[in-house]
Amino acid sequence: MIYANADRRELNTAESFRVIDNLADLGASVVLLTGGEPFIRNDLPDLAGRLVSRGVHPRIQTNGLATIDGLRRCAELGVRDISISLDSLEPANQDFLNGGFDDSWNTAVETIANVGQVMGTNTFAAFGCVFSPFNFQGVPDVIRFATELGWWVSLVPAHSTDPLEPRSFSTFNQTVQFQPNQYSQVDAVLDEIGELKSKGFNIYDSEQYLKDLRRFVKGEPLTWRDRNAGVCDAGSLYFAVLPDGGLAPCCDWRLEEHVDVGGPDFVKEYKRGNFVKPIQEKSKACSGCLYGSYPEITISARFAKASLERYSMFIAESRSQINTISADEIRMLAKKHLSGKPRS
Ligand code: SF4
Repeated sequence: MIYANADRRELNTAESFRVIDNLADLGASVVLLTGGEPFIRNDLPDLAGRLVSRGVHPRIQTNGLATIDGLRRCAELGVRDISISLDSLEPANQDFLNGGFDDSWNTAVETIANVGQVMGTNTFAAFGCVFSPFNFQGVPDVIRFATELGWWVSLVPAHSTDPLEPRSFSTFNQTVQFQPNQYSQVDAVLDEIGELKSKGFNIYDSEQYLKDLRRFVKGEPLTWRDRNAGVCDAGSLYFAVLPDGGLAPCCDWRLEEHVDVGGPDFVKEYKRGNFVKPIQEKSKACSGCLYGSYPEITISARFAKASLERYSMFIAESRSQINTISADEIRMLAKKHLSGKPRS
């Protein structure tokens, strides 16, 4: 379940607790707290702690702006799952990809060091890494760097959309799309990534997801929904909660009518299947996406190999521990893994 979109009134802490309690009563196993930047909310650790206390696993996504105090409070309340945006080992490229935000790379490095320091080596920590024409050649470097740090890498291709059919989480910037003359380079990089995965490097994405990534960047039809008649599992395995507590099929689409996820009758009505039809009206009409979380949940539920892979990551806890080195040591490690390949 995903908390997304930024153009709505934000619930206060008490209202958010009501949403969390309903999600717990519904039997949600994982809640992804995302933004924008979720750490802009001072009560983020309280919300994550409430999830933990209700037996729900919180995963927090940050652009790297989490303070050490915020991370410490999350850790004290039992949070052990965090994802930071890291798209490149080249500081200037990372800043460019973050819309020209000065020093975003150094900010991310400080946050990586803080996570190691306050959240403990047993934390599941991952880099959310965009796969775009502006950084894809450097993605294998990010994977090698992450693996030495004990972190994981989750790839998300840049999504663009037609302004006439806007989707909330996609950009109008068409330059993020790959051109046919880049496809052979894309294939070479994705072959390298596949090889790294088979050798045990820390790539979070399933093989099925990586196959669809190759299709997505070339504008070919995706296959991760094929085992469910070409429809995703929005409304059954996942849904989104808007900042105002409204129910949404996912981060891209909204329902015509407001449904209050924190409302007193929400759990009863959801279990009766009252929201399946309006959600499926959206998901059946959707051409698909490759936003890491939704496809991976569907893939884990419907592909045995991916399911076993997730089990070994989260249940069996057989994964490597994260490295607790300083920000300066992290910068040195990044330099070591920077192969100097061109960006595009
Ligand atoms: S496939 Fe469409 S409806 Fe389903 S999660 Fe992705 S964007 Fe949403």
